[in-house]
Amino acid sequence: MDPHEWGLSTTAIHAGRKHNGTRSVTTPIFQTSVFELKENAEGAEFAAAVEPPQFYTRWGNPNFSEVQAVVASLEKAERALITSSGMSAFATVFETFLKPGDHVVAPAAIYLGTEQLLRRWETQKGLRITWVQNTLDAAEWEAAVTDGTRLIFAETPSNPTLSITDLAMVADLGRRRGVRTVADNTFATPIFTRPVELGIDLSVSSATKYLGGHSDLVAGVIAGSEADIAACWGTTKITGPTVDPFSAWLLHRGLKTLCLRVRRAADNAQSLAAWLLWQSQVVRVDYPGNREHPGHAVAARQMTGGFGAMLSFELAGGLAAGQRFCEALSVITRAVSLGGVESLIQHPASMSHLRTPPEVKARLGISDGLLRFSVGIEDEADLKADLEAGFQAAGLAR
Ligand SMILES: *Cc1c(COP(=O)(O)O)cnc(C)c1O
Repeated sequence: MDPHEWGLSTTAIHAGRKHNGTRSVTTPIFQTSVFELKENAEGAEFAAAVEPPQFYTRWGNPNFSEVQAVVASLEKAERALITSSGMSAFATVFETFLKPGDHVVAPAAIYLGTEQLLRRWETQKGLRITWVQNTLDAAEWEAAVTDGTRLIFAETPSNPTLSITDLAMVADLGRRRGVRTVADNTFATPIFTRPVELGIDLSVSSATKYLGGHSDLVAGVIAGSEADIAACWGTTKITGPTVDPFSAWLLHRGLKTLCLRVRRAADNAQSLAAWLLWQSQVVRVDYPGNREHPGHAVAARQMTGGFGAMLSFELAGGLAAGQRFCEALSVITRAVSLGGVESLIQHPASMSHLRTPPEVKARLGISDGLLRFSVGIEDEADLKADLEAGFQAAGLAR
């Protein structure tokens, strides 16, 4: 059977399979910085090659090749590249495709690290940025593009307010204006959204989250065309955000259960999001799977088989209630990050955004009672019971 016709589960398990000279069913960990050369000529050949897997680990490694083959297949992209973190993946894309003075279009509410990276480019390299406020407004994206625009960046669903961007619309805009398009696919994962299939040039993810899935590694991936990924590799070869072979091996192992994990987590999220909507203590729920979500129609079109497992909800009672709520939880763990098998909760107002000025929080949609909930794969009844305990402690029980 042609591997291109495999479903996503089969792809996740078998796409990277190479025996690498052994008959082990799982791949050994190539915990080495360097490989012996058969002859001098091989050294010359590898030195000139794009990503030789058995030369020097900053250039490539068999454990990287396997992960890259799986991610490229899942993302329906020609090629993929693994890096040391999600942030180094984004830094690599910007370093590869942007020059000082270029113009970029990006949503106003995105992952804080990506925003800070863009702002650093702005102050240090004169990058000009137009921030899109309403990601559902095609006219706003259209008007933001200028003759100097070199990159359009999207993140869908976005962090932490789960706003939605129509990737096919962004891809079309990029094609018409000759601008490269990039999507952060961390929240959706290739199981629910494949940006490259929708016409986006580069799909970039923090593999630390769902792709790894067990909160035990830090890595990033970039997927796109042969030429674009070769160009990104050219950057990493000299800037060196190299992941370690063991983390790549863990990521490969995590990817095999990606379908099962994210579908189960999304089922939990869909059901909890509907339940939260009916709780009198909850004033707002942001989940693209809810019909009430402004991006629901677009999400229903571009997300296949589920709406992901990230949701945000706002408690009546603001800052103090949010804090007491988190303290009463026993299954759902208080931590930043997301996308693991375990449910994690974050209260931005008292944690990540405590020192963020109020006007910035308002722009980002971060209210005092907002909780960001990464729904895991636990039993749904236990998650509900835990949330109920939280409501009780926050003094919000009916
Ligand atoms: C975590 C995250 C990143 C950064 O990835 P790291 O692996 O932490 O470097 C980027 N974008 C989104 C949406 C994230 O959640």
